[in-house]
Parts: sequence; structure tokens; C-alpha cells
Amino acid sequence: MSQEHRTKFLTNLKKQSAEGAEALILSCIDYRFFHAIATEMKRAGLDGKYDMFCLAGASLGAQLDFPPSASLPNPKPFLPRAHWQQVFLEHLNLACQLHPNIKYVWVFEHMQCGAYRTFLGSMPPDEEEKQHERYARELVFLIYKFNPGLTTYTCVLPAGHAPESTELDILACGGAEGE
Ligand SMILES: [Zn+2]
Repeated sequence: MSQEHRTKFLTNLKKQSAEGAEALILSCIDYRFFHAIATEMKRAGLDGKYDMFCLAGASLGAQLDFPPSASLPNPKPFLPRAHWQQVFLEHLNLACQLHPNIKYVWVFEHMQCGAYRTFLGSMPPDEEEKQHERYARELVFLIYKFNPGLTTYTCVLPAGHAPESTELDILACGGAEGE
């Protein structure tokens, strides 16, 4: 690393730690979308200012709340409380405690999602899009009930997303600064 890069890196790091995280991202675990997510966050002015949490299926994953032993994949949790929604909400809570400047939640869904296929079955693309929208809307409402001070944005990335050339469609938005 050159001296110039090092100085810039340290200045950015100092700036970030002074301002802290302003958003929590919830995304699917899928490796294909992290570059697109980083690009979108930069475009939203939140470059380097977010905590990151991943659950297979993003908003669907955050609402998996099946009875113990029902449809959860193996290995099944030992304790009934260890379901995915609980894990998400505890992390959201912790992120807000650790980084009190967090005021946004960004949820990144994506098309051709293996988690949607695993939990809901195979479906044509237009039906998958509807399901992403449905779970995104429900999650916006859930986060609002959990913490009305947060604003949540949800979007679905197309498979093969090219963020430089595409305007991001916001599926659902709500909370302190939303409609
Ligand atoms: Zn996925």
C-alpha cells in the first residue's frame, strides 16, 4: 500500500469510526450479489457505514417461524426459540445498541433465490417476484413494530444484476422516514 493510499485509508477509517454505522443490511447468503450490494450502498451514500447480516432468503428467512420439528432444514434447532426470526431480531437489536446512529435497514432480496425454492417450492419468475414483494412488505411491517424509529428499504436484485446501469426498484419502504 502506498503512503498516499495508506493516509486515505486511515482518514476514511477514522471518519467511519467517528460517525459509526448508519444502516443494517439484511441480505441472502448467496455469493453472487455482494458486489452489487456494496455498489448500491455506495450509491445510497452509505459506503462503509453499515453492519451486515445474512440469512438465506433475506426477508423470507427473517420470517421463518415454523413450529419445532416442522419444516426447518436439518440440523433442526435444539431449542424452540432458536428460530430464524428470533436470530434476526436479536441481531437487529444488538446492532442498534452497539451503533446508535443506525436509522436504516436495507433488505436485499434477489431473483433465482435457492432459499425461496427450498422453502416455498419451484415457481415461475413472476410468481417468485410476487413472493419477494409479499415477504418484503411483511418484514417492513415487522421491523416497524419492533422499532418504529427505523426506516426500512427492501429491493430485489435481478439475477445477473448490473448496478452501474440499472435503477434499483424499491419493493417496499416504511418506518420513521418512509410513507
Ligand atoms: Zn438467495
